[in-house]
Amino acid sequence: MADREGLIWHNSQIVQWRNAQTHVLTHTLHYGMGVFEGVRAYKTERGPAIFRLREHTDRLFNSAHILGMKVPYDRDTIDEAQRIAVRENRLDSAYIRPMFYFGPEGMGLRADNLDVHCIVAAWEWGSYLGEENMKNGIRVRVSSFTRHHVNVTMCRAKANGNYMNSMMALQEAMRDGYDEALMLDAQGYVMEGTGENVFLVRGGVLYTPDLTSALDGITRKTIMTLARELGIDVVEKRITRDEVYIADEAFFTGTAAEVTPIREVDGRAIGSGTRGPITERLQQLYFDVVHGRSEAHLEWLTLV
Ligand code: PMP
Repeated sequence: MADREGLIWHNSQIVQWRNAQTHVLTHTLHYGMGVFEGVRAYKTERGPAIFRLREHTDRLFNSAHILGMKVPYDRDTIDEAQRIAVRENRLDSAYIRPMFYFGPEGMGLRADNLDVHCIVAAWEWGSYLGEENMKNGIRVRVSSFTRHHVNVTMCRAKANGNYMNSMMALQEAMRDGYDEALMLDAQGYVMEGTGENVFLVRGGVLYTPDLTSALDGITRKTIMTLARELGIDVVEKRITRDEVYIADEAFFTGTAAEVTPIREVDGRAIGSGTRGPITERLQQLYFDVVHGRSEAHLEWLTLV
């Protein structure tokens, strides 16, 4: 990733990709206290457009607020930095990565003497879980790792350190030949994927876990809105592992994963064992909306 052409927004400067460096004593590198976002821009008829930009920026600032990081930028500046990152790299579509991190100003755990730095990078990134899997669905295992407890890490924050738990779960799932892990919370209820929210369909109704230790996903919110507009009931509730096994359909949502069907969990086929009809309908609608092919929700698109 580091050795390539391109430009990165770094503390208000546009720097060469290869020169976007930080010191080895960068605080966040040691202790994981930092916050970031994953945002996408899609190709539209009117040029590249960032999907739900302000919502992502708001979540980034909320994450920093939760961690007590004092950000020396305002939201408009970070919105603009994301547009710049796409524009300067001449991307038609992009994955955008803004991050606030503590610099190398100190090594102790007290953070009050540290500066908050910011990067915004953008690059082309196709389907996170594979193009073919978007049609046929992925194979998932329930993780042996428990999702965060709400008073251990702060689950409303998209914090760097939270992702160690995700990476342990994904590593285990992939080692066992699965594509992704489904994580249960500390009480044993279904919570989310390693980088995605989860949905089930049963009897034509859409179910998703209520937000306790899951990230408040922007794709989750988008899918809930689109489903309700189609007249599909959406219910947020506690979901058990065996409810997933007997669902008619299941899928993950996320900025990177978009809408990814789940065809199997723990060796059990979900529904027909392929992408279900409601999943397909919502997936199509999602792609129409993000590409500006739908008249509805153009307010979610920000041209770069
Ligand atoms: N849960 C986790 C743990 C995630 O990392 C992500 C990706 N940001 C999501 C859910 C989905 O969130 P969003 O739809 O906002 O990308």
